[in-house]
Amino acid sequence: MNLQGKVAVVTGGSRGIGKEIAVRLGAAGAYVYVNYVSRPDAAEATVADIIEAGGRARALPFSVADTAAVEAAFGAILAEAGRIDILVNNAGITRDGLLMKMKEADWDEVLDTNLKGAYLCMKAVYRPMMKQRGGRIITITSVIGFAGNAGQANYAAAKAGLMGLTRSMARELASRGVTVNAVAPGYIDTDMTRDLDEAVKEKIRAEIPMAFLGTPADVAGAVMFLASDDARYVTGQCLHVNGGMYM
Ligand code: NAP
Repeated sequence: MNLQGKVAVVTGGSRGIGKEIAVRLGAAGAYVYVNYVSRPDAAEATVADIIEAGGRARALPFSVADTAAVEAAFGAILAEAGRIDILVNNAGITRDGLLMKMKEADWDEVLDTNLKGAYLCMKAVYRPMMKQRGGRIITITSVIGFAGNAGQANYAAAKAGLMGLTRSMARELASRGVTVNAVAPGYIDTDMTRDLDEAVKEKIRAEIPMAFLGTPADVAGAVMFLASDDARYVTGQCLHVNGGMYM
């Protein structure tokens, strides 16, 4: 796959799934902006991995939930690179708890980061991609957005909302050669899931026909397909990467 000359932005590219996506995009030749919010060490390590493998990348701190910060960051990227070809909306957080006890702040924080964050980043690339008459927007949703999960009403609502956003954007941008798709991982071994206790992980494994948790590489592979020329006629879709957990 050749992404030479392409410019990619990966939100939450410092760790986990986003890191793997950033590294794969860099290895394919794209210039990668690695966004992060709190861990400059992790973002710089991702950039170093990309450069070591012969790619080009730069770390860029901003919160996807902060309107002014998103506008400023994308403005800076466009001023520097002149274009954005691939946007991966990957940044996401959890603040779990039963709805009965869920604090409004935990609802807001998850919706602001996971759903509004994608809206703000899509809005920032909307005009540039339209003018370029091409682009790829790929958003990481979750199996939880389809199946729901006790204790994750905020996360499930945000992730389900991302599908409505994806399909609507796909319709708005299709005639301009911009495709808009989602990838819905099942349970992937990252910092987000590492703290689950072994009993919970065992229960999850029992619900997965393939009987193991996925890796960031499994998700990155799906993102790379959607970013490739092979996916030029694919838009408004969600590619599920979950070992058969949800069909
Ligand atoms: P992770 O290891 O916890 O990493 C989260 C990433 O998001 C970090 O790079 C973090 O940056 C960044 N981030 C958090 N809040 C942000 C904000 N406000 N602005 C910008 N960046 C922010 O998570 P992960 O497991 O790789 O998950 C990545 C995506 O996949 C998320 O959308 C998640 O919901 C989704 N997903 C994960 C799983 C799973 O099982 N792991 C399953 C389904 C879907 P810092 O390093 O600076 O903190």
